[in-house]
Amino acid sequence: MKSVEQTSSRVELAHLLSQCGNAVAFTGAGISTECGVPDFRSPGSAWRRNKPIPFADFLASEDMRLEAWRRKFAMDDIYAGAKPGRGHAALQRLVASGIMSAVITQNIDGLHQQSGIPDAQIIELHGNGTYAHCLQCGTRHELAEVRAEMESRCAPPLCGCGGIVKSATISFGQAMPREAMQRAKGATLACDLFIAIGSSLLVQPAASFPLLAKQNGAALVIVNGEATPLDDQADLVLNGDIGDLLDTLGRDGGRFSSATSDGRPQDTEKTSL
Ligand SMILES: [Zn+2]
Repeated sequence: MKSVEQTSSRVELAHLLSQCGNAVAFTGAGISTECGVPDFRSPGSAWRRNKPIPFADFLASEDMRLEAWRRKFAMDDIYAGAKPGRGHAALQRLVASGIMSAVITQNIDGLHQQSGIPDAQIIELHGNGTYAHCLQCGTRHELAEVRAEMESRCAPPLCGCGGIVKSATISFGQAMPREAMQRAKGATLACDLFIAIGSSLLVQPAASFPLLAKQNGAALVIVNGEATPLDDQADLVLNGDIGDLLDTLGRDGGRFSSATSDGRPQDTEKTSL
């Protein structure tokens, strides 16, 4: 159900986008749930059923590496073929129009890349689960090859250099990627509109970015299914279905239509450029 309040909030978001000089998005699992990618923190998810394997254990034990890879491929089978959703498409339009300079994401599903946003404008705080890399020499390894090798040898994969091959994600106990964190900080400090989308804003240090943006003078918008701990800091909060809320943003060649998804224009005076 789309309430009057929700419609006016979308109009307000479109207005903020039309007025801003540089927007940055920060995305979490909620933007990908309509794409069939499970929210790992939701009740019943495998993420909750299995105790996460800490990075140190992954490094120390071949059995742990094998188990980590088995879990990884089991999860991949669940969301194989996931395609970008309406939220991803909206952000792609905003980036393509030049209004949005970067998308900082907690997601590892690669759907922002798949939506057409250039790599240079995506900052992955938790890495990327769509490929693997060698922890020693950094060589990229494709998952299909890793899986074939693992299944034929019944042993965790190794790089040609002898190094351990790991999914290119950040595991529990693994340091946050320094370059990504620096890029995210730079993008956050450079924006005047920061839009957090589909994140519970609970996981640190990632969740510190919305607050940093706000403290630096940017307008803060939070778009999420549920309330977040930062809602009272935000200039605008939109709660509801994320695909519905973002669907119309950035249509019309970069002008910010606030039309509802059935095409009815809303308050065009406020929202056209
Ligand atoms: Zn290597």
